[in-house]
Amino acid sequence: MLDRILIDPQAFAEKGETLQGQVLLKDLDTRVLSSDIVDDSAAVSYHIQGGLDKWQRPFFDLSLSGSILLRCQRCLGEMPFVLEEDCRIVLFDNEDELDKAMLADEELDGMLVESECDVFSLLEDQILMALPFSALHDACDDADLTASNQDKPNPFAVLAGLKKSD
Ligand SMILES: [Zn+2]
Repeated sequence: MLDRILIDPQAFAEKGETLQGQVLLKDLDTRVLSSDIVDDSAAVSYHIQGGLDKWQRPFFDLSLSGSILLRCQRCLGEMPFVLEEDCRIVLFDNEDELDKAMLADEELDGMLVESECDVFSLLEDQILMALPFSALHDACDDADLTASNQDKPNPFAVLAGLKKSD
């Protein structure tokens, strides 16, 4: 486990601070790894920008990117997955305001302001939401199977050859 990065979310947003870096999947909480990840040494880059929106609500803009190898749940082959996630999380003082805002805007991602926020658990939540529920190729290796079938001799051609030798 890495040293956790703790920020004061209110101050971070009000000062418009930024934070960026890279984290390896294996350094995050194991709940991130419970899905179909083949290679837990994959790195995810993150960028967090604090700010105040037009209603003067503090927010984080969070971007994640990385390339993660998953295991297809149908053929158990490897499946590259490109993680590209951008979201805004708006901070609220109390649950009533948070509920009201979430009702007014279905797209809104909100959370309650705490005195401390663990950056990696923020990332873990977003990575979990971004990963497919079940990794599946669009069409496993159908194309490859067809190609290798064509290499085999056509059974009718073989029969035709036998008849000739009669
Ligand atoms: Zn597959």
